[in-house]
Amino acid sequence: MKFYNTLTKKKEEFVPIEEGKVRIYVCGPTVYNLIHIGNARPMIVFDTLRRYMTYKGYEVNYVSNFTDVDDKIIAAANEEGVPSEVISTRYIAECKKDMDEMNILPATVHPQATLEIDGMIDMISDLIGKGFAYDVNGTVYFRTRKFDEYGKLSHKNLDDLRSGNRDIKVTGEEQKEDPLDFVLWKPKKEGEPSWPSPWSDGRPGWHIECSVMSKKYLGEQIDIHGGGEDLIFPHHENEIAQSEACSGVPFARYWLHNAFLKVNNEKMSKSLGNFFTVRDICNEYSGQVLRFFTLTAHYRSPLNFSRDIMESSANALDRILTSAEKLRDRIASAKAEELTAAEKEKLAETAVFRQKFEDAMDDDINTADAISAIFELVKFANVEVTEDSSKAFAQAVLDEMNELCGILGLKTERKAEVLDSEIEELIEKRQAARKEKNFALADEIRAQLLDMGIELKDTREGVKWKRV
Ligand code: AMP
Ligand code: ZN
Repeated sequence: MKFYNTLTKKKEEFVPIEEGKVRIYVCGPTVYNLIHIGNARPMIVFDTLRRYMTYKGYEVNYVSNFTDVDDKIIAAANEEGVPSEVISTRYIAECKKDMDEMNILPATVHPQATLEIDGMIDMISDLIGKGFAYDVNGTVYFRTRKFDEYGKLSHKNLDDLRSGNRDIKVTGEEQKEDPLDFVLWKPKKEGEPSWPSPWSDGRPGWHIECSVMSKKYLGEQIDIHGGGEDLIFPHHENEIAQSEACSGVPFARYWLHNAFLKVNNEKMSKSLGNFFTVRDICNEYSGQVLRFFTLTAHYRSPLNFSRDIMESSANALDRILTSAEKLRDRIASAKAEELTAAEKEKLAETAVFRQKFEDAMDDDINTADAISAIFELVKFANVEVTEDSSKAFAQAVLDEMNELCGILGLKTERKAEVLDSEIEELIEKRQAARKEKNFALADEIRAQLLDMGIELKDTREGVKWKRV
């Protein structure tokens, strides 16, 4: 397998640190709101990488954190008048629901920053001891000038950055030795969550969280570190500085970054207000359509979101599902059980599609081409599997489709249809509620049915319903 490595700016052959094993760390979301479909991009991309590496026979240890202490979480908590923990706990649960909807496997471990404070205090103490960090009145900073390789990931001109940053006077930051020094620990302000430390009652900076959680769950050296391209600088640059200053060995071998999801060619982000939540898009289309749409582009190419593209993604995915459905019907109605010699020969042709799929995925996770290989298989299935085919033939083609789709996290079965009997039952319940003048309940049932994709119409002949 080859990956484009941000660190070397080259596509490189993947060689694991330990044979047969892969250690992956992916920076997870800050949990103060429902995640948007831009946040979903790294989740889907790296879950697909994980599935593919598992398919290739690697034992994958996949760690992805939740940042559950942050200014934005504190602001949301203050707005609602609840402790920050209430906000972070709620949105971790909501994020996990969204992940499930998009068929993103739970990580091997999902560490939370607030549960790892001891490890952060240890690492910061270690950095101070080694001269890589300093305490000024309870705030601890990383000394970037002491880390010779600072800037190696982002390939930025540090002198330009330094002089640029010098012009921006941030209150309280004049105490830094260098404009590029960043916070490892900060003292609490009134009403903020805090933990005791040797420097002040306070909380960790964002960057130290990932260095600590990655070390604890994956060890000092990891194979792959992933995240969105906005994280290259300063977040990942700072993670490298902290981890390598502590351990003295290279932190991650391959740095993979996804490009942005855009709307009207602008980055989708909460601050710009041009975002769509995963929840809304899953309700409007489905988690599977969102996943398919995300994988239609190479992860390093910008991807533009529009309803037109979502519609065509839904249609394209439907072609796969229809083909799989037809294969299942053929299996059920096949007259012959065993493969004929001619079928055996035909079946061998599908190896080409699998080879194309693997070649695409081996080439820096080219999911766009991998999807094209699946469509070649779909075409093959639609032409070659007929009512005269044996059960074994139809089954083998379906197995192939299931496996390739499964690597991309795509299910070939449609979501279970709502049964007519369930609908009738709910309509009866609603009629009874109306008779008792319980209009609130009646409206609730109407809304529930609408959620299930059923629209009611009260007519003179009684209640009629249709799927919408
Ligand atoms: P955040 O919660 O902002 O720290 O973001 C969590 C993850 O989502 C990070 O890996 C970001 O790089 C990524 N991300 C945020 N916005 C987008 C976007 N519009 N497109 C792709 N990735 C994004
Ligand atoms: Zn991180």
